Amino acid sequence: MASGHRSILIAGAGATGLTAALELARRGHLPRIVDSDTGPVALAESRALGVNARTLTLLSPSRVTDAILQEAQQLARFRVTSKGRKLVDLDTTKLPGPYGAIYALAQGHTERLLLGKLSDYEIVPEWQTVVETVAGDLSKPRVTMRKADGSTETAEFDIVIGADGSHSAVRKAVGIDFPGEALETSFYLADFRYAVPIDAGFAEINLVDPGIIGRLPVTRDVLRYISTLPDFERRIQHPAPVVERVWASDFRVHFRHVDRMAKGNVFLAGDAAHIHSPAGARGMNLGIEDACWLAWLISEGREKEYAALRIPAVQTVLKQTYRLTSLITMSNRVAIAIRNLAAPLMLRIPAFSQNLLRSVSGYDTQSPPWIDGAL
Ligand SMILES: Cc1cc2nc3c(=O)[nH]c(=O)nc-3n(C[C@H](O)[C@H](O)[C@H](O)COP(=O)(O)OP(=O)(O)OC[C@H]3O[C@@H](n4cnc5c(N)ncnc54)[C@H](O)[C@@H]3O)c2cc1C
Repeated sequence: MASGHRSILIAGAGATGLTAALELARRGHLPRIVDSDTGPVALAESRALGVNARTLTLLSPSRVTDAILQEAQQLARFRVTSKGRKLVDLDTTKLPGPYGAIYALAQGHTERLLLGKLSDYEIVPEWQTVVETVAGDLSKPRVTMRKADGSTETAEFDIVIGADGSHSAVRKAVGIDFPGEALETSFYLADFRYAVPIDAGFAEINLVDPGIIGRLPVTRDVLRYISTLPDFERRIQHPAPVVERVWASDFRVHFRHVDRMAKGNVFLAGDAAHIHSPAGARGMNLGIEDACWLAWLISEGREKEYAALRIPAVQTVLKQTYRLTSLITMSNRVAIAIRNLAAPLMLRIPAFSQNLLRSVSGYDTQSPPWIDGAL
């Protein structure tokens, strides 16, 4: 094992930071992981729902995948409809390899499964610990952290991983820019619990032009509706009587990524390095992918290759997500008519539907060389 004794600090115990910690731990490292919050994402906040086949592949060596598959809903079909007409009906199970393209599991559950496996290595995040500064010679970064009791700790680490989300203090401290744009579009979402189990086997986007209303299962009796329309809730045709509105949120869409994912021995991963629209459900998956690659490279003593290896994957996903977002949020009537005519025809071309499936499954980025037979 190369460089197993190096001191590693992970800032952020979200999906990205927890994955980095777990992947390092199972290779014999003992990282410290700190988080400013009091615990993982609340179970009621579904947030990142889509867990794709690439993530399942990446989390299979740690056996988190087995646990995810026990809890998640497989999205066997992905549909796009417009005024009652089906434009796209993709069978997401027709994929080589052991997994379907995409499953649904609320982010809080995924994070708890990661935490559970991490505890097998006796690693527990230090909650309510805020990374305030990263300074000094970045080949041996000096980090100042503030604890819950108001005390501060300053320590040097061989490696610092900034997995501290889109407002990353680590990124700002080392002076890495986060260029990109904020779209005019906002997304609004609400999760509803029903009195009886609902059909949780598919995801659907209804194009209401201009705008969309998406429907995704959270559990057997909870559905998420996501929309670009602030008043979308009154347009929902619920499949069963509603028991409660479990959670609601809204967010403005940004497309941003760093030009460099590392500076000295400080590395950025997940939302700290890239953010984009939820179209395609790639956000959390891409962060998990960053974390797995970084952990492998650190263990191999090859972490200097991280940025060069990951930037192309980030660019691929952001380009793909941007295209998808433009397609579902277009407002020009002529463009909408052309899209609605072309989409079903394009889907009949096997190469086109295969490409779409590759992107939904996350197989459009480089496959992990450390997992035998990975796609
Ligand atoms: C309301 C909402 C809805 C979303 N819906 C979707 C969706 O439908 N699909 C999708 O793919 N994605 C969605 N996302 C995005 C998805 O949640 C993120 O892509 C994913 O959480 C990224 O994981 P991460 O670990 O990189 O960052 P985060 O989940 O942001 O985790 C970062 C962690 O760092 C901690 N932290 C922050 N600053 C510091 C600091 N200074 N010191 C120590 N710790 C710190 C935070 O407490 C947090 O726990 C949604 C996000 C939100 C907020």
